Amino acid sequence: MNVMNVDLHCHSTVSDGWLEPQALVRRAASNGVELLALTDHDEVRGIDAAADAAEEAGVRLVAGVEISVSFAGETVHIVGLGIDHHCPTLVDGLEVLRAGRDARARRMSDELARCGIVGAYDGARRFARNPALVSRAHFARHLVASGLMPNVKTVFDHYLARGKPGFVEHQWARLEDAVGWILAAGGIAVVAHPARYRLSAADMTRLFDAFSAAGGEGVEVVSGAHSEEEMRRFATIARQRGLLASRASDFHGENESPVDVGRCNPLPPDLTPVWSRLI
Ligand code: AMP
Ligand code: MN
Ligand code: MN
Ligand code: MN
Repeated sequence: MNVMNVDLHCHSTVSDGWLEPQALVRRAASNGVELLALTDHDEVRGIDAAADAAEEAGVRLVAGVEISVSFAGETVHIVGLGIDHHCPTLVDGLEVLRAGRDARARRMSDELARCGIVGAYDGARRFARNPALVSRAHFARHLVASGLMPNVKTVFDHYLARGKPGFVEHQWARLEDAVGWILAAGGIAVVAHPARYRLSAADMTRLFDAFSAAGGEGVEVVSGAHSEEEMRRFATIARQRGLLASRASDFHGENESPVDVGRCNPLPPDLTPVWSRLI
């Protein structure tokens, strides 16, 4: 059997990954990845460096992005694949979206200070290679490095997940806008790690209905953030809705991610892979 090793979701230091785009591509290549998408949060400024490294390493690179969206009181992530990362509609939309992050990070720091954790804004900034993209992951790493918590997951469980003291509500992009920017850039929109959203069954149906109505076409069936049971649940949804299926590690770094780049399970063979439209 000759199944291509495809990984269409991972992060570099341009958002909250641990590896520079070049090093990430080299790791993917040594793990046997043949087709790789770099999908930094709300950012495309790692694509050019990744593309150069991919050419050297003999990997095919898909230009991607993971856009933060607010939907039904939850944060939902929409991945764009095969985008023109210079498209002004996309670039301008992402710039506006990123601009809200600094004030959010200051508010998070203020909330943490109320629980006795001071200086978290500066601490998180030290972990963020891209000052325009401070994410909760950077706060979590700072708290671990300070010795306050044993690992990143525990920080999220105690402080950073929705409803916890360091979580602040934030208005991300509208679903229709995020999908629209991806389509304007010639890309394919994909719902990232759908099992991770705390949505009612009715809201999950509304999400996929609105996503398709906006022109979205794909869903991550295999994700580093999915159990096998969750994978089967979204394989069924992909079949029922005729969605293209993606395979996605969501790799951030060696000690933080359950699945290494290129090391996810294969897609169920009856699904239509989203990469049939990318190669
Ligand atoms: P943000 O975009 O700032 O809200 O940060 C979201 C990022 O935080 C995700 O992309 C993950 O990297 C990380 N994250 C979110 N929830 C968790 C969790 N429960 N455990 C570990 N990392 C998480
Ligand atoms: Mn992340
Ligand atoms: Mn995500
Ligand atoms: Mn991701």
